[in-house]
Amino acid sequence: MEDIVLKAEQISKTFGTGHAEICAVDNVSLDVRRSELVLIMGPSGSGKTTLLSIFGALLRPTAGTIDIEGIRITDLGEEKLPPVRATKIGFIFQAFNLLDALTVEDNILFPAGLLPGGLESARQRAGHLIDRLALTKRRHALPKTLSGGEKQRVAIARALINKPPLILADEPTGNLDSHNGQEVMMILQDIIQDEECSVVMVTHDPRVEEVANRILWLEDGSLRDRKAEHHNWVIDPVCGMRVDEWTAEVFIEYQNARYVFCSRRCLEKFNEKPDQYISKKF
Ligand code: ADP
Ligand code: MG
Repeated sequence: MEDIVLKAEQISKTFGTGHAEICAVDNVSLDVRRSELVLIMGPSGSGKTTLLSIFGALLRPTAGTIDIEGIRITDLGEEKLPPVRATKIGFIFQAFNLLDALTVEDNILFPAGLLPGGLESARQRAGHLIDRLALTKRRHALPKTLSGGEKQRVAIARALINKPPLILADEPTGNLDSHNGQEVMMILQDIIQDEECSVVMVTHDPRVEEVANRILWLEDGSLRDRKAEHHNWVIDPVCGMRVDEWTAEVFIEYQNARYVFCSRRCLEKFNEKPDQYISKKF
């Protein structure tokens, strides 16, 4: 039998009602196997954070079911969810969400405190993770004294403390500069391999594309397999440069068409005289 850690079936989520209704996730089904790294990409507003929040039992879907290691979390009452989140799921967010009043070590131990007993073994594991994430000298530091990269490494250790089978990471390097982002991503990949956990990650980081087992593309709340060739080249209408539409971060909807740019500068130029660029042929 295949070892499925996360099984999502026909998940939909709408926010608001009537004219204000937004369908953020539209009938998404996904199986994630043990030790698999699934990368989810897609433009801003396509429903990535909403989907991860539903996978992690932080948000209830409007329709559909989620099973984590065979537990149907969408059937559980609110009071049964905290232990499931604490034991089954590790969250890594873009904002690090550390507790300001707690030291590095206590932040990492915090989710272990939600479980009965075993604090001594959790302490040992925290020590191991602290060394592993190069935080040894920062063990007793408060979050406000840490760099962004250090904060995110603390958040990674906290996500891993209870050995969850599923890690959910939402743009984990989104608030870091490229140097810190690279470091965090390398450590994260290394640890994920050692821990044999399954990971669903949202990121634009091209290095993750290389190591991901699967890359999925979310657009308007719907999921689809990304084409095997890995790139969908389109032409920046302003400068004529080739841009990968899958990962482009600068784009605009204009007269029901989508235009993708290599940079903000090209988008600004486009905005000054869109019609001039639309008719231009390269
Ligand atoms: P992404 O993470 O891909 O940028 P999100 O999941 O944050 O996308 O958002 C998907 C859509 O759902 C967007 O249109 C967003 O405005 C909307 N949305 C997200 N959260 C809420 C909410 N709590 N209330 C209303 N609309 C929301
Ligand atoms: Mg998001």
